[in-house]
Amino acid sequence: MSTVDLVIKGAQLPDGKTADICIQGESIIDVTASYKGESVTTIDAKGCVVLPGLVDLHTHLREPGREDAETVLSGSKAGTKGGFTALSAMANTSPVADTAGVVEQVYRLGQEAGLVDVFPIGAVTQGLKGETLSEIGAMADSVARVRVFSDDGNCVSDPLVMRRALEYIKKFGGVIAQHAQDPRMTVGSQMNEGEVSARLGLKGWPAVAEEAIIARDVLLADHVQSRLHICHLTTAGGVEIIRWAKARGINVTAEVTPHHLLLTDDLASSYDPIFKVNPPLRTESDVHALREALADGTIDIVATDHAPHPLEAKECEWQEAAFGMLGLETALSIVQMTMVNSGLMSWQQVAERMSHKPASIGGYEHQGQRIEKGSFANLVVINPTKLWRVDRDLVLSNSSNTPYHGHELPGVVEHTVFKGKQTLINGQISQGGGK
Ligand SMILES: [Zn+2]
Repeated sequence: MSTVDLVIKGAQLPDGKTADICIQGESIIDVTASYKGESVTTIDAKGCVVLPGLVDLHTHLREPGREDAETVLSGSKAGTKGGFTALSAMANTSPVADTAGVVEQVYRLGQEAGLVDVFPIGAVTQGLKGETLSEIGAMADSVARVRVFSDDGNCVSDPLVMRRALEYIKKFGGVIAQHAQDPRMTVGSQMNEGEVSARLGLKGWPAVAEEAIIARDVLLADHVQSRLHICHLTTAGGVEIIRWAKARGINVTAEVTPHHLLLTDDLASSYDPIFKVNPPLRTESDVHALREALADGTIDIVATDHAPHPLEAKECEWQEAAFGMLGLETALSIVQMTMVNSGLMSWQQVAERMSHKPASIGGYEHQGQRIEKGSFANLVVINPTKLWRVDRDLVLSNSSNTPYHGHELPGVVEHTVFKGKQTLINGQISQGGGK
Protein backbone atom coordinates (compact mmCIF):
# COMPACT_ATOMS: atom_id res chain seq x y z
CA MET A 1 0.00 0.00 0.00
CA SER A 2 1.25 3.42 -0.90
CA THR A 3 0.93 6.52 1.28
CA VAL A 4 0.30 9.99 -0.13
CA ASP A 5 0.38 13.38 1.59
CA LEU A 6 -3.22 14.43 1.02
CA VAL A 7 -6.37 12.89 -0.41
CA ILE A 8 -9.51 14.85 -1.23
CA LYS A 9 -12.18 12.17 -1.12
CA GLY A 10 -15.46 12.04 -2.96
CA ALA A 11 -15.60 15.58 -4.33
CA GLN A 12 -17.47 16.46 -7.47
CA LEU A 13 -15.06 17.56 -10.21
CA PRO A 14 -15.97 20.52 -12.46
CA ASP A 15 -17.26 18.07 -15.11
CA GLY A 16 -19.72 16.56 -12.63
CA LYS A 17 -17.89 13.26 -12.02
CA THR A 18 -16.99 12.25 -8.47
CA ALA A 19 -13.39 11.28 -7.69
CA ASP A 20 -10.60 11.05 -5.13
CA ILE A 21 -7.72 13.46 -5.75
CA CYS A 22 -4.31 12.30 -4.50
CA ILE A 23 -1.64 14.90 -3.77
CA GLN A 24 2.04 14.33 -3.14
CA GLY A 25 4.32 17.30 -2.53
CA GLU A 26 3.17 20.13 -4.78
CA SER A 27 1.46 17.95 -7.35
CA ILE A 28 -1.65 15.96 -8.10
CA ILE A 29 -0.36 12.43 -8.62
CA ASP A 30 -3.67 10.72 -9.31
CA VAL A 31 -7.35 11.39 -9.88
CA THR A 32 -9.16 8.12 -9.40
CA ALA A 33 -12.69 6.84 -8.82
CA SER A 34 -11.67 5.35 -5.49
CA TYR A 35 -8.27 5.61 -3.79
CA LYS A 36 -7.59 2.59 -1.62
CA GLY A 37 -4.17 3.47 -0.20
CA GLU A 38 -3.12 5.40 2.91
CA SER A 39 -2.76 9.14 3.28
CA VAL A 40 -1.24 11.46 5.87
CA THR A 41 -4.27 13.77 5.63
CA THR A 42 -7.73 13.12 4.22
CA ILE A 43 -10.36 15.69 3.36
CA ASP A 44 -13.87 14.26 3.26
CA ALA A 45 -15.39 16.26 0.44
CA LYS A 46 -18.65 14.39 -0.08
CA GLY A 47 -21.32 16.80 -1.32
CA CYS A 48 -18.65 19.38 -2.20
CA VAL A 49 -17.42 20.67 -5.54
CA VAL A 50 -13.68 20.91 -6.19
CA LEU A 51 -12.37 23.51 -8.59
CA PRO A 52 -8.85 24.53 -9.60
CA GLY A 53 -7.67 27.31 -7.25
CA LEU A 54 -9.26 30.61 -8.25
CA VAL A 55 -7.08 33.20 -9.99
CA ASP A 56 -7.88 36.89 -9.61
CA LEU A 57 -6.54 39.15 -12.32
CA HIS A 58 -7.53 42.39 -10.55
CA THR A 59 -6.77 42.89 -6.85
CA HIS A 60 -5.88 46.04 -4.95
CA LEU A 61 -3.56 44.99 -2.14
CA ARG A 62 -2.61 48.59 -1.11
CA GLU A 63 0.94 47.70 -0.06
CA PRO A 64 3.21 49.65 -0.22
CA GLY A 65 1.60 52.83 1.05
CA ARG A 66 -1.83 52.11 2.53
CA GLU A 67 -1.18 49.18 4.84
CA ASP A 68 -4.04 50.40 7.05
CA ALA A 69 -6.42 49.41 4.24
CA GLU A 70 -4.71 46.16 3.19
CA THR A 71 -1.35 44.44 3.15
CA VAL A 72 -0.10 41.71 0.88
CA LEU A 73 -0.51 39.35 3.86
CA SER A 74 -4.05 40.41 4.85
CA GLY A 75 -5.13 40.37 1.20
CA SER A 76 -3.56 36.92 0.79
CA LYS A 77 -5.61 35.70 3.77
CA ALA A 78 -8.81 37.16 2.33
CA GLY A 79 -8.02 35.53 -0.99
CA THR A 80 -7.34 32.15 0.62
CA LYS A 81 -10.65 32.40 2.48
CA GLY A 82 -12.36 33.10 -0.83
CA GLY A 83 -10.77 30.09 -2.56
CA PHE A 84 -8.09 31.96 -4.51
CA THR A 85 -4.58 30.60 -5.02
CA ALA A 86 -3.36 33.56 -7.10
CA LEU A 87 -3.89 37.31 -6.91
CA SER A 88 -2.73 40.07 -9.24
CA ALA A 89 -1.64 43.13 -7.30
CA MET A 90 -2.71 46.35 -9.05
CA ALA A 91 -0.07 49.02 -9.55
CA ASN A 92 -1.82 52.01 -7.96
CA THR A 93 0.12 51.79 -4.72
CA SER A 94 2.29 54.45 -3.10
CA PRO A 95 4.90 54.46 -4.52
CA VAL A 96 3.32 53.36 -7.78
CA ALA A 97 4.50 49.98 -9.12
CA ASP A 98 6.15 51.53 -12.16
CA THR A 99 9.70 50.24 -11.56
CA ALA A 100 11.34 46.84 -11.20
CA GLY A 101 12.13 47.73 -7.57
CA VAL A 102 8.50 48.11 -6.52
CA VAL A 103 7.16 45.05 -8.35
CA GLU A 104 9.98 42.96 -6.87
CA GLN A 105 9.06 44.22 -3.39
CA VAL A 106 5.40 43.22 -3.85
CA TYR A 107 6.40 39.87 -5.32
CA ARG A 108 8.67 39.12 -2.34
CA LEU A 109 5.95 40.13 0.15
CA GLY A 110 3.67 37.63 -1.58
CA GLN A 111 6.27 34.89 -1.26
CA GLU A 112 6.78 35.68 2.42
CA ALA A 113 3.03 35.52 3.09
CA GLY A 114 3.12 32.14 1.36
CA LEU A 115 -0.65 31.67 1.06
CA VAL A 116 -1.19 32.45 -2.64
CA ASP A 117 0.88 33.43 -5.64
CA VAL A 118 0.98 37.25 -5.77
CA PHE A 119 1.67 38.47 -9.30
CA PRO A 120 2.41 42.20 -9.43
CA ILE A 121 0.84 44.20 -12.24
CA GLY A 122 3.09 46.95 -13.57
CA ALA A 123 1.95 50.49 -14.26
CA VAL A 124 1.70 51.42 -17.94
CA THR A 125 2.86 54.99 -17.34
CA GLN A 126 5.15 56.63 -14.79
CA GLY A 127 3.18 57.58 -11.69
CA LEU A 128 -0.07 56.54 -13.46
CA LYS A 129 0.01 59.98 -15.02
CA GLY A 130 -0.75 58.76 -18.53
CA GLU A 131 2.18 60.60 -20.11
CA THR A 132 5.43 58.63 -20.20
CA LEU A 133 5.76 54.85 -20.37
CA SER A 134 7.02 53.25 -17.16
CA GLU A 135 9.95 50.79 -16.94
CA ILE A 136 7.90 48.14 -18.72
CA GLY A 137 10.86 46.13 -19.98
CA ALA A 138 12.67 46.14 -16.62
CA MET A 139 9.51 44.98 -14.84
CA ALA A 140 9.03 42.20 -17.41
CA ASP A 141 12.66 41.06 -16.91
CA SER A 142 12.56 41.30 -13.10
CA VAL A 143 12.09 38.30 -10.80
CA ALA A 144 8.39 39.24 -10.71
CA ARG A 145 8.21 38.49 -14.46
CA VAL A 146 5.43 41.04 -14.99
CA ARG A 147 3.22 40.34 -18.00
CA VAL A 148 0.11 42.41 -17.20
CA PHE A 149 0.38 46.21 -17.26
CA SER A 150 -2.33 48.60 -16.12
CA ASP A 151 -2.84 52.14 -14.88
CA ASP A 152 -6.04 50.89 -13.23
CA GLY A 153 -7.81 53.51 -11.23
CA ASN A 154 -6.79 55.73 -14.11
CA CYS A 155 -7.43 55.23 -17.80
CA VAL A 156 -4.59 55.39 -20.30
CA SER A 157 -6.57 58.04 -22.11
CA ASP A 158 -3.97 59.42 -24.55
CA PRO A 159 -4.36 57.29 -27.69
CA LEU A 160 -0.71 57.70 -28.69
CA VAL A 161 0.54 56.55 -25.27
CA MET A 162 -1.86 53.59 -25.45
CA ARG A 163 -0.58 52.70 -28.91
CA ARG A 164 3.06 52.81 -27.77
CA ALA A 165 2.27 50.64 -24.74
CA LEU A 166 0.45 48.06 -26.89
CA GLU A 167 3.42 47.97 -29.27
CA TYR A 168 5.98 47.64 -26.48
CA ILE A 169 4.40 44.66 -24.68
CA LYS A 170 4.32 42.62 -27.89
CA LYS A 171 8.08 41.99 -27.45
CA PHE A 172 7.51 39.61 -24.57
CA GLY A 173 3.88 38.54 -24.90
CA GLY A 174 2.44 40.99 -22.40
CA VAL A 175 -1.01 42.49 -22.20
CA ILE A 176 -2.37 45.96 -21.42
CA ALA A 177 -5.33 45.89 -19.00
CA GLN A 178 -7.32 49.05 -19.58
CA HIS A 179 -9.53 50.82 -17.05
CA ALA A 180 -11.86 52.20 -19.73
CA GLN A 181 -13.01 55.62 -18.58
CA ASP A 182 -12.86 58.78 -20.65
CA PRO A 183 -11.56 61.28 -18.09
CA ARG A 184 -13.14 64.34 -19.71
CA MET A 185 -16.62 62.79 -19.75
CA THR A 186 -16.41 61.71 -16.13
CA VAL A 187 -15.04 64.76 -14.30
CA GLY A 188 -16.65 64.76 -10.86
CA SER A 189 -18.87 61.78 -11.68
CA GLN A 190 -20.42 60.04 -8.69
CA MET A 191 -22.58 57.24 -10.10
CA ASN A 192 -24.15 55.86 -13.28
CA GLU A 193 -25.77 58.53 -15.44
CA GLY A 194 -29.45 57.73 -15.71
CA GLU A 195 -32.84 58.08 -14.05
CA VAL A 196 -31.51 57.44 -10.57
CA SER A 197 -28.66 59.98 -10.79
CA ALA A 198 -31.13 62.59 -12.11
CA ARG A 199 -33.48 61.92 -9.21
CA LEU A 200 -30.70 62.00 -6.60
CA GLY A 201 -28.97 65.02 -8.06
CA LEU A 202 -25.63 63.22 -8.27
CA LYS A 203 -23.32 63.85 -11.20
CA GLY A 204 -23.70 61.01 -13.68
CA TRP A 205 -21.14 58.83 -15.42
CA PRO A 206 -22.41 57.99 -18.87
CA ALA A 207 -22.04 54.51 -20.35
CA VAL A 208 -20.48 56.12 -23.42
CA ALA A 209 -17.48 57.25 -21.33
CA GLU A 210 -16.61 53.57 -20.91
CA GLU A 211 -17.71 52.37 -24.33
CA ALA A 212 -15.84 55.03 -26.31
CA ILE A 213 -12.51 53.94 -24.79
CA ILE A 214 -13.27 50.23 -25.32
CA ALA A 215 -14.10 50.92 -28.98
CA ARG A 216 -10.96 53.00 -29.49
CA ASP A 217 -8.70 50.45 -27.83
CA VAL A 218 -9.96 47.37 -29.69
CA LEU A 219 -9.27 49.30 -32.89
CA LEU A 220 -5.78 50.24 -31.64
CA ALA A 221 -5.06 46.64 -30.60
CA ASP A 222 -6.10 45.52 -34.06
CA HIS A 223 -4.03 48.20 -35.76
CA VAL A 224 -0.79 47.25 -34.00
CA GLN A 225 -1.70 43.53 -33.69
CA SER A 226 -1.26 43.48 -29.93
CA ARG A 227 -3.15 42.10 -26.93
CA LEU A 228 -5.70 44.08 -24.93
CA HIS A 229 -7.64 43.23 -21.80
CA ILE A 230 -10.63 45.31 -20.70
CA CYS A 231 -11.01 45.63 -16.93
CA HIS A 232 -14.43 45.51 -15.23
CA LEU A 233 -16.85 45.80 -18.14
CA THR A 234 -20.15 47.26 -16.92
CA THR A 235 -22.42 48.17 -19.81
CA ALA A 236 -24.55 46.34 -22.37
CA GLY A 237 -23.01 48.54 -25.05
CA GLY A 238 -19.49 47.55 -23.98
CA VAL A 239 -20.49 43.90 -24.35
CA GLU A 240 -21.63 44.56 -27.93
CA ILE A 241 -18.27 46.15 -28.82
CA ILE A 242 -16.31 43.22 -27.37
CA ARG A 243 -18.56 40.79 -29.23
CA TRP A 244 -17.91 42.69 -32.47
CA ALA A 245 -14.14 42.82 -31.84
CA LYS A 246 -13.91 39.09 -31.12
CA ALA A 247 -15.93 38.28 -34.24
CA ARG A 248 -13.31 40.22 -36.23
CA GLY A 249 -10.52 38.23 -34.61
CA ILE A 250 -9.14 41.11 -32.54
CA ASN A 251 -6.98 39.90 -29.64
CA VAL A 252 -9.10 41.22 -26.76
CA THR A 253 -10.30 39.70 -23.50
CA ALA A 254 -12.63 41.19 -20.91
CA GLU A 255 -13.53 40.81 -17.26
CA VAL A 256 -16.60 41.46 -15.14
CA THR A 257 -16.69 41.90 -11.37
CA PRO A 258 -19.05 39.93 -9.13
CA HIS A 259 -20.70 43.15 -7.95
CA HIS A 260 -21.57 44.23 -11.48
CA LEU A 261 -23.27 40.84 -11.96
CA LEU A 262 -25.63 41.55 -9.08
CA LEU A 263 -25.94 45.13 -7.85
CA THR A 264 -27.60 48.09 -9.63
CA ASP A 265 -27.54 51.87 -9.43
CA ASP A 266 -30.84 51.89 -7.46
CA LEU A 267 -28.68 51.17 -4.40
CA ALA A 268 -27.31 54.73 -4.56
CA SER A 269 -30.75 55.89 -3.40
CA SER A 270 -29.62 54.90 0.10
CA TYR A 271 -26.76 57.44 -0.22
CA ASP A 272 -24.69 54.74 1.49
CA PRO A 273 -21.15 55.11 0.06
CA ILE A 274 -20.61 51.37 0.45
CA PHE A 275 -22.21 51.22 -3.03
CA LYS A 276 -19.94 53.88 -4.52
CA VAL A 277 -17.59 52.13 -6.91
CA ASN A 278 -15.57 52.80 -10.05
CA PRO A 279 -16.85 51.99 -12.62
CA PRO A 280 -20.29 52.57 -11.16
CA LEU A 281 -23.12 50.12 -10.61
CA ARG A 282 -25.30 50.26 -13.72
CA THR A 283 -28.89 49.25 -14.54
CA GLU A 284 -30.82 45.99 -14.42
CA SER A 285 -30.58 45.59 -18.19
CA ASP A 286 -26.79 46.03 -18.04
CA VAL A 287 -26.63 43.34 -15.34
CA HIS A 288 -28.56 40.96 -17.59
CA ALA A 289 -26.31 41.71 -20.57
CA LEU A 290 -23.20 41.07 -18.44
CA ARG A 291 -24.52 37.73 -17.16
CA GLU A 292 -25.43 36.62 -20.66
CA ALA A 293 -22.00 37.68 -21.99
CA LEU A 294 -20.16 35.87 -19.19
CA ALA A 295 -22.17 32.72 -19.89
CA ASP A 296 -21.55 32.77 -23.65
CA GLY A 297 -17.83 33.63 -23.26
CA THR A 298 -17.93 37.15 -24.73
CA ILE A 299 -16.71 38.17 -21.28
CA ASP A 300 -13.80 35.83 -20.58
CA ILE A 301 -13.33 36.03 -16.84
CA VAL A 302 -14.59 37.18 -13.46
CA ALA A 303 -12.14 39.46 -11.61
CA THR A 304 -12.86 40.91 -8.20
CA ASP A 305 -11.53 44.49 -8.35
CA HIS A 306 -11.16 43.94 -4.58
CA ALA A 307 -10.73 47.54 -3.36
CA PRO A 308 -10.20 47.87 0.40
CA HIS A 309 -10.63 51.28 2.02
CA PRO A 310 -10.25 52.34 5.64
CA LEU A 311 -13.42 53.28 7.55
CA GLU A 312 -12.93 57.03 7.29
CA ALA A 313 -12.87 56.82 3.49
CA LYS A 314 -16.30 55.18 3.44
CA GLU A 315 -18.12 56.41 6.55
CA CYS A 316 -18.71 59.91 5.22
CA GLU A 317 -20.94 61.68 2.72
CA TRP A 318 -21.38 60.05 -0.69
CA GLN A 319 -19.55 62.82 -2.54
CA GLU A 320 -16.52 62.61 -0.25
CA ALA A 321 -16.28 58.83 -0.13
CA ALA A 322 -13.68 56.71 -1.93
CA PHE A 323 -14.67 54.46 -4.82
CA GLY A 324 -14.49 50.70 -4.31
CA MET A 325 -15.63 47.62 -2.43
CA LEU A 326 -14.19 44.37 -1.09
CA GLY A 327 -14.52 41.31 -3.29
CA LEU A 328 -12.19 38.42 -2.51
CA GLU A 329 -14.15 36.68 0.24
CA THR A 330 -17.54 36.86 -1.50
CA ALA A 331 -16.66 36.46 -5.20
CA LEU A 332 -17.35 32.76 -5.55
CA SER A 333 -20.66 33.00 -3.65
CA ILE A 334 -21.87 35.86 -5.85
CA VAL A 335 -20.90 33.94 -8.99
CA GLN A 336 -22.65 30.83 -7.69
CA MET A 337 -25.78 32.83 -6.90
CA THR A 338 -25.96 34.84 -10.13
CA MET A 339 -24.59 32.34 -12.65
CA VAL A 340 -24.77 28.74 -11.35
CA ASN A 341 -27.93 28.73 -9.24
CA SER A 342 -29.68 30.68 -12.02
CA GLY A 343 -28.78 27.92 -14.48
CA LEU A 344 -26.70 30.19 -16.71
CA MET A 345 -23.36 28.45 -16.10
CA SER A 346 -21.99 25.05 -15.06
CA TRP A 347 -19.19 24.54 -12.52
CA GLN A 348 -16.96 23.67 -15.47
CA GLN A 349 -17.59 27.16 -16.81
CA VAL A 350 -16.88 28.67 -13.38
CA ALA A 351 -13.52 26.87 -13.44
CA GLU A 352 -12.91 28.28 -16.90
CA ARG A 353 -13.86 31.89 -16.04
CA MET A 354 -12.30 32.07 -12.56
CA SER A 355 -9.19 29.90 -12.92
CA HIS A 356 -8.08 28.53 -16.32
CA LYS A 357 -8.69 31.67 -18.38
CA PRO A 358 -7.42 34.34 -15.97
CA ALA A 359 -4.24 32.26 -15.49
CA SER A 360 -3.79 32.06 -19.23
CA ILE A 361 -4.36 35.81 -19.77
CA GLY A 362 -1.82 36.61 -17.04
CA GLY A 363 0.69 34.00 -18.22
CA TYR A 364 0.59 32.31 -14.79
CA GLU A 365 1.91 28.92 -15.82
CA HIS A 366 1.59 27.12 -12.47
CA GLN A 367 -1.97 28.31 -11.96
CA GLY A 368 -5.27 27.42 -13.58
CA GLN A 369 -4.25 23.90 -14.48
CA ARG A 370 -6.77 21.09 -15.05
CA ILE A 371 -7.50 18.80 -12.13
CA GLU A 372 -5.53 15.85 -13.46
CA LYS A 373 -2.41 13.81 -12.83
CA GLY A 374 0.75 15.93 -13.08
CA SER A 375 -0.91 19.30 -12.42
CA PHE A 376 0.10 21.59 -9.58
CA ALA A 377 -2.15 20.99 -6.58
CA ASN A 378 -3.88 24.38 -6.43
CA LEU A 379 -7.47 23.57 -5.47
CA VAL A 380 -10.56 24.87 -3.74
CA VAL A 381 -13.24 22.71 -2.13
CA ILE A 382 -16.62 24.37 -1.78
CA ASN A 383 -19.93 23.27 -0.31
CA PRO A 384 -22.52 24.72 -2.69
CA THR A 385 -25.51 23.70 -0.58
CA LYS A 386 -24.44 25.55 2.58
CA LEU A 387 -25.38 29.19 3.23
CA TRP A 388 -23.37 31.74 5.18
CA ARG A 389 -24.01 35.24 6.43
CA VAL A 390 -21.53 37.99 5.53
CA ASP A 391 -20.29 39.92 8.56
CA ARG A 392 -18.04 42.90 7.85
CA ASP A 393 -16.51 42.55 11.32
CA LEU A 394 -15.31 39.04 10.54
CA VAL A 395 -13.65 39.54 7.15
CA LEU A 396 -9.93 38.76 6.95
CA SER A 397 -9.23 41.86 4.91
CA ASN A 398 -7.84 44.81 6.86
CA SER A 399 -10.86 46.80 5.63
CA SER A 400 -14.55 46.12 6.08
CA ASN A 401 -16.18 47.81 3.07
CA THR A 402 -18.20 44.86 1.83
CA PRO A 403 -21.53 45.71 0.19
CA TYR A 404 -22.98 42.38 1.38
CA HIS A 405 -22.90 42.88 5.16
CA GLY A 406 -25.80 40.92 6.67
CA HIS A 407 -26.62 39.13 3.40
CA GLU A 408 -27.01 35.36 3.36
CA LEU A 409 -25.04 33.93 0.44
CA PRO A 410 -24.80 30.41 -1.02
CA GLY A 411 -21.58 28.42 -1.22
CA VAL A 412 -19.06 28.01 1.58
CA VAL A 413 -15.35 27.71 0.80
CA GLU A 414 -14.29 24.83 3.05
CA HIS A 415 -10.72 24.14 1.93
CA THR A 416 -8.07 25.83 -0.14
CA VAL A 417 -4.93 23.97 -1.22
CA PHE A 418 -1.95 25.96 -2.50
CA LYS A 419 0.97 24.03 -4.03
CA GLY A 420 -0.15 20.91 -2.20
CA LYS A 421 -0.39 22.60 1.24
CA GLN A 422 -3.68 23.18 3.02
CA THR A 423 -3.98 26.92 3.46
CA LEU A 424 -7.66 26.92 4.45
CA ILE A 425 -8.99 24.07 6.60
CA ASN A 426 -12.73 23.94 7.33
CA GLY A 427 -12.98 27.64 6.60
CA GLN A 428 -10.03 28.61 8.84
CA ILE A 429 -6.65 29.88 7.66
CA SER A 430 -4.09 27.21 8.50
CA GLN A 431 -1.45 28.60 10.83
CA GLY A 432 1.76 28.47 8.88
CA GLY A 433 -0.03 26.42 6.25
CA GLY A 434 1.41 28.51 3.50
CA LYS A 435 5.00 28.29 4.67
ZN1 LIG B 1 -10.43 50.00 -12.38
